[in-house]
Amino acid sequence: MGKSLIAPIQYLRGIGPKRAKSFSALGVNTIEDLLYYFPRRYEDRTKFISISKLQEGQTYTIKAQVLAKGEHQSFRRKGFNIIEVAVGDSTGKIFCVWFNQPYLKEYFKVGVTLVLYGRIERYAGRLQMNSPEFEIVSPRPSSDAILDLKEGRGESLSIGRITPIYSLPEGITQRYFRQIIKNTLDGYLPEINDFLPFDIRSRNNLLNLAKSLINIHFPDNLDMQNEAYRRLSFEEFFLFQLPLALRKLKKKEKTGISHKVDGELINAFIEGLTFRLTLAQEKVIKEIKSDMAKPPAMQRLLQGDVGSGKTVVATIATLIAIQGGHQAAFMVPTEILARQHYDKISYQLSRMQLCKEVALRDPEVTQKQTLHSGPSYQNKKIKLGLLTSSLSRKEKEKMHQDIKEGKIDLVIGTHALIEESVKFKNLGLIVIDEQHKFGVGQRALLPAKGTNPDVLIMTATPIPRTLAITLYADLDVSIINELPVGRLPVKTMHFTEKNKSQAFEIAKAQLRQGSQAYIVYPVIEESYVLDIKGAKKMFSELKSGEFKEFKLGIIHGRLRQSEQDEIMLKFKQKELDVLVSTTVLEVGIDIANATCMIVESAERFGLSQLHQLRGRVGRGRQESFCILISDAETPQAQVRLAAMIKYNDGFRIAEEDLKIRGPGEFFGRRQSGLSELRIANPLTQMQLLKKARDEAIKLINIDPRLGLRQNLGLRKKLLQRFPEYDKLLMIG
Ligand code: ADP
Ligand code: MG
Repeated sequence: MGKSLIAPIQYLRGIGPKRAKSFSALGVNTIEDLLYYFPRRYEDRTKFISISKLQEGQTYTIKAQVLAKGEHQSFRRKGFNIIEVAVGDSTGKIFCVWFNQPYLKEYFKVGVTLVLYGRIERYAGRLQMNSPEFEIVSPRPSSDAILDLKEGRGESLSIGRITPIYSLPEGITQRYFRQIIKNTLDGYLPEINDFLPFDIRSRNNLLNLAKSLINIHFPDNLDMQNEAYRRLSFEEFFLFQLPLALRKLKKKEKTGISHKVDGELINAFIEGLTFRLTLAQEKVIKEIKSDMAKPPAMQRLLQGDVGSGKTVVATIATLIAIQGGHQAAFMVPTEILARQHYDKISYQLSRMQLCKEVALRDPEVTQKQTLHSGPSYQNKKIKLGLLTSSLSRKEKEKMHQDIKEGKIDLVIGTHALIEESVKFKNLGLIVIDEQHKFGVGQRALLPAKGTNPDVLIMTATPIPRTLAITLYADLDVSIINELPVGRLPVKTMHFTEKNKSQAFEIAKAQLRQGSQAYIVYPVIEESYVLDIKGAKKMFSELKSGEFKEFKLGIIHGRLRQSEQDEIMLKFKQKELDVLVSTTVLEVGIDIANATCMIVESAERFGLSQLHQLRGRVGRGRQESFCILISDAETPQAQVRLAAMIKYNDGFRIAEEDLKIRGPGEFFGRRQSGLSELRIANPLTQMQLLKKARDEAIKLINIDPRLGLRQNLGLRKKLLQRFPEYDKLLMIG
């Protein structure tokens, strides 16, 4: 027959160039895409509830006829349009109300039959449905006519069954889309080969692909829908785990560096710190040491809440590499952060040398130290380098030269580190801080500059351990699960614009005690210039208004690096009381004297991002405040604000965020693989994910290149999903 699943959808009846374009916007370009465009939810339309039985507070699907409609302007809010439609069945009638969507009235001609889905609410004493989703079931809308060969055919897909509801753009009706899907299923089912090997399917009781596709769209009953969902989720998990399993296998085969993990350098550094390491930090350092001592290259993910002290752990890892004669690289996402780490680590190293001198004068300590054998760091001064893109060309060339000649032991830098021209003499360890800010491709570039160097990846957007070890199956996971002693939870509050001055009062009270504050203004990339204008305007208003008794500074990503450095330095040295900022502050900034964070238009930030911002305060021993200003009334915004107030723990926040946004959004488009999880949900389908992972590992161990006959379909599918794995599969 020669029908191909990867043929463009224009080949289907009912889809012209114009509709093909709308489909394309949904990510649907081929027949296969279409079949994999799954319903957002289902309605049981085998039986409808009678209007007389509707109860307040519940969500229902009803079928009713339009009896009358009206339209008026709100008398409370100017220019606010309200459409009211009375609908009824044989048992009664109810009003449906839509706000500010005047164009909808065209749909509600008297006599038309609708299926409506929504929540019943009480307003001014009467029950009504507010902004229900609706679908016209008869007479059929003219826009759908193109489909109907036989009269009433569309009807059987939309009524009297469990009916799929899709996310569709304006102009594509549910009925039309259902029919297209049905036609496609009918026409192409014989072409569908199940690429999951038979034994895997049978071991895990999975439905075959064709049956799953039918039942995910038009389930015979909810059990079948469930089975289909299970199979298709497994498929997503499995395809996503295969490359991870393969990468893990390959890594085992590669030998890296066996670092010298025990030495005086580390102990002296720890002694020089102004604080004691937490037990969690010590435990993680042990895990890192054990990895670094072994020949296979370390691939470790270090998770820890904001402020849990990951930097110092990473610094110790770099010293382990250095004491054995290797170089280390520490990559961070922003220049401000690079500078901050550079300063802090310089300071800590200088203290170490100070301590050593003091220690040498103390006979007891001296004696203890001479007992240790091995090379002494005594005369070795550790050389730090800072490499960012704002260095002058000359400075950059010099830095590149020094790195290449091995004159730099530890280089801290931004993306500038992965530039082609950066070459190391002897790179032994890589640290990547705030890994979620880098793309997968970017993360892979740095290790290529050494021969299998150890890699430590850090994140402050932690996820539950069980999830982490499956999702990042190619990494080992360490967790810092406690904060340094004496930290108080940050007090988080929500204020509306109207009550903003109360929020400012809290900040001012902090400032009068000698503490400092941040005020963050949201900047979204699309309107960068505009928003910076907004931030600047706010800055000058605050400066001459609310905060005129204090010293204010402003910092944003469009300032030159030297200017940013200067302002951060001023803030650090307490020459400024308040720092007005865009989200350049989001990651990493560590100034313990700042105890108040005000976030403007907080609804414009995601949950994890808000938590990151909050992490800029509460870094000392004083009580700190995080004040979220927002007027947003959308349920999503409400949920986020409530979660921020309720939870202080980054793991909890991440879990909530995952629930709210789903894995694709949560992990970001750049984390290839995870964003491919479209229906599978690692949180609710943990068991299934584990099964898929075990099967993936098993299969890869037997047939790493997926070259066996029974696995060729799978191989093809995998490459279709993740073309970048071509190389991985080739070099078997
Ligand atoms: P994050 O994990 O968010 O990167 P940092 O590494 O920036 O956190 O650490 C936050 C602050 O806590 C830093 O000023 C750091 O020096 C300090 N710190 C780290 N470990 C400890 C500890 N064990 N006790 C007290 N303070 C610590
Ligand atoms: Mg950090």
